[in-house]
Amino acid sequence: MHSTARHRLPEEVRALWVVRTSMVSPRSIERVVEYAARYGFNALFVQVRGRGDAYYRSSYEPRAEALADQPADFDPLGYLLRCADGAGLQVHAWLNVFYVWSQPRKPRSGQHVVSRSPNWIARDAQNRYQMTTAGRVEGVYLCPSNPNVRAHLLKVFAEVAQRYPQIDGLHLDYVRYPYDGYCYCAGCRARFREAMWERVSEARRAQLDKSAAGRNPLAWIQAFPAEWSDWRRDQVSAFVGAFSRQSRRVNPNLILSAAVWPDPQLAAKNKLQDWLYWLRSDWLDTVLPMAYDKDTAVVQRQAVQVVEKAQGRPVIVGVGAWQVSPDSTVNKIRAIRRSGARGFCLFSYDAITQAGKSDAYLRAVEREVNPNPFG
Ligand SMILES: [Zn+2]
Repeated sequence: MHSTARHRLPEEVRALWVVRTSMVSPRSIERVVEYAARYGFNALFVQVRGRGDAYYRSSYEPRAEALADQPADFDPLGYLLRCADGAGLQVHAWLNVFYVWSQPRKPRSGQHVVSRSPNWIARDAQNRYQMTTAGRVEGVYLCPSNPNVRAHLLKVFAEVAQRYPQIDGLHLDYVRYPYDGYCYCAGCRARFREAMWERVSEARRAQLDKSAAGRNPLAWIQAFPAEWSDWRRDQVSAFVGAFSRQSRRVNPNLILSAAVWPDPQLAAKNKLQDWLYWLRSDWLDTVLPMAYDKDTAVVQRQAVQVVEKAQGRPVIVGVGAWQVSPDSTVNKIRAIRRSGARGFCLFSYDAITQAGKSDAYLRAVEREVNPNPFG
C-alpha cells in the first residue's frame, strides 16, 4: 500500500519554494542553488509551470513570456538541474495545474491554452470568468471536469517527467477550483446532468430539463446542491488519481506532492480540494499544507492536526516566511519540528531574498535551518 517514493524524502525536509521569477536567467538560477546549499536547505520546489506556460522545454505549452530576452535554447529547469547536481539538493518540479492566466491582456502566444481553447475556461454561475485577481478568484482557471483539459494536462505533466528524469518529484499547485462558485460551464452542466440521470425519476428529469431549457440553465445543479459539490470534488480527485497512476508508470521513483489548503475539511468544502483522500489513497507521497498564518500558535495547531490526519504519511509544512520576520520563521520551524512533520518549506525564496539580491534573511534563519553548520 505504501509507495516507495516517499522513502526517498530526506529524513528532514528543509525546503524552499522557488517562484518562476527566479527562473528567468542563468545567473538567477545559479544564485538559487548557491544560497539554498549554503544555508542548509536540502530540497527545492521550483515553479516551472506558472500560467499555462513553460520554464522548460515543452512541446505542448508556450515558452514563458518572461524568457523572451533569453536565447531560445535556454532551458531554466534543465539548467537548474545541472547546477543542483552534487549540491545535496532535491529538485521538485512545481506545476500550477488549473490556474493558467492572471493578466488583463491575452497571452502573446496563440499556442497558449487561453487563446487556443477558450471553451476550456472555467465559468462562474453567471457563465463569466475573470482575467485577473479579484475577490476570491486569482484569474483564469481551466474546467476540471472537461476531459480535454485533463488529457492535455496529463500530457504536459508526462512530458516533464519523461524529459527530465533527474527530477526528484512533481509538485502540484492550484489543483482545485478557485472557490465553490466555479465551474458552471455548459460542459459541467451537461456532465452533471448525466451523472445524476439514473438517480432521478422520469417525471423529475422531464421537469428539470424543461426548467433548464427555459428560464433556469442551473436547474439540475440547484436541485442537488450536495451532489453538485461532491461531483466537483470528484472531478479534481479523478484528475489527481490519473496523474498519480501516469506519473508512477513514467517514473516510479518520483515523489508526488501537492501544495494544499491547510485545513482538510475547509479545503474539501470551499476549494473542492479533497487532499486528505488523495494522501490516504497513496496517490500522493506527501502534502505541503500552506500554513501561512503569521501567528506561530496557529501554524503549530495546523501542523499537529495535519500530521495526525495523515496517519503516518509524511507532511511538509509550508511557512509564510514572506510576511514574517526571520525570528518568527525560526519559531515556526521549531513548532513544526515538535509537531512530528517531515519538514518545512519556506514561501518563498524570491520574497525572502528579494529575488536573489540579499541573503540576509537566509543568514538569519540558518542557525535553525542548518542542523549541523560545521559538519
Ligand atoms: Zn466546467
